[in-house]
Amino acid sequence: MASLDIQAALEGKGKYLGKSYFFKENQYTRYDWTADRSEDGYPLEIDLWDLKSSFGDSVNAALNGKGVYKGKAYFFKGDSYCRYNWSTDKVDANYPMKITAWKLPKGFESDLDGAVNGKGRFKGKAYFFKGGEYVRYDWLKDAADPGYPKNLSEWGLPAHFQSGIDCIVNGQGAYKNKAYFFKGDEYARYDWNSDSVEAVAKVVGNWPMLTELTNAGSGKAQALEWLVAAMPQVKALISSLSSGTSFPHNQALMDDALETHFKIPKTMKAADKLKHLPIIQANFEAVHQALLSSHKSFRGRILSEAVSDRGVDTSGNPFPAYTWHVHSMNFTRTFANFGPLCQAAMVLHESVHFVDVKATAANDFYEHSPKYATMSIVEALHNPSSYVCFAQHLFYGKDERFGAARPNL
Ligand SMILES: [Zn+2]
Repeated sequence: MASLDIQAALEGKGKYLGKSYFFKENQYTRYDWTADRSEDGYPLEIDLWDLKSSFGDSVNAALNGKGVYKGKAYFFKGDSYCRYNWSTDKVDANYPMKITAWKLPKGFESDLDGAVNGKGRFKGKAYFFKGGEYVRYDWLKDAADPGYPKNLSEWGLPAHFQSGIDCIVNGQGAYKNKAYFFKGDEYARYDWNSDSVEAVAKVVGNWPMLTELTNAGSGKAQALEWLVAAMPQVKALISSLSSGTSFPHNQALMDDALETHFKIPKTMKAADKLKHLPIIQANFEAVHQALLSSHKSFRGRILSEAVSDRGVDTSGNPFPAYTWHVHSMNFTRTFANFGPLCQAAMVLHESVHFVDVKATAANDFYEHSPKYATMSIVEALHNPSSYVCFAQHLFYGKDERFGAARPNL
């Protein structure tokens, strides 16, 4: 299955109190502590935070300011950091700056894993994590406490967390005395009052829709890469067939992909190909737009919602993903059971259902079913898996068919 691997986390402040933000690659999800689930419409692009430099591509760690720095959030990346103002929703002037300004011990001046503020009797302190070590910082003195770095084992984390964490975030609401360490697909809940780790568990099932939507976002990013490879080639083919000029990409690959996934034979006359290709082009463009505006369609569905949506199989297990045409693309707990390329294929598959009214359940022929080889051109032109496998075929230069038949990839 795709690993969660969150890279940074931050509690919302000001008007965003009660929310937590989880950052992975160039996207972030928002968790609502009152609803106790990740919010629909996410993930969104980190670029929306208007951080500077390459912070939009990913961040390493994030921390809220305390004392005179209250109302600020700090984002760390590489050897730099940006200071963000919660009330103006903007990065302060003159950032990014170098992490050396924090005067942390050697080794903590770049590539941090995580950061969090202390609570209870540790109030006024911030903790920075890197590899198997951490540093305690004092907001009032504006300096690291002496005697650090110390070993991560001091936190009582399970052994596999002690080589380094992905991120850490404080709880809110009913969970306000807790800190949560994340690593891979797991989290460890720490209690500031008892100064001990209380539980270690899978994120899936315990943080509803956090894994599901984060994975859907990564799938979207991969699907967009496939689309960006395939779409210009379809456009170029239409143009070359219309004008009689030569096709500027790999003709043999294109012929093979069209025949395999859309049943359009190499030998078909140009005039006939030109009746079909615009349908493919229009669907790809609509799918591309749908994924670029996934905030309008992506939803996480807990089991009871999937049941009421009829998004469950005969045994009552939710479908990993299901779509209502022009309404929503829905992701459930079982989506997390699949590998990253399979998830990307599912996201792209669902987005064809989302945009094409003719891509109905009755016209849904999986790439691993016998029917895939015998479907007609008209069926193929409205078959979600045809778009997924065609785009992959052009992207990888061969017929890969990443999807449900290759569930772990
Ligand atoms: Zn389908």
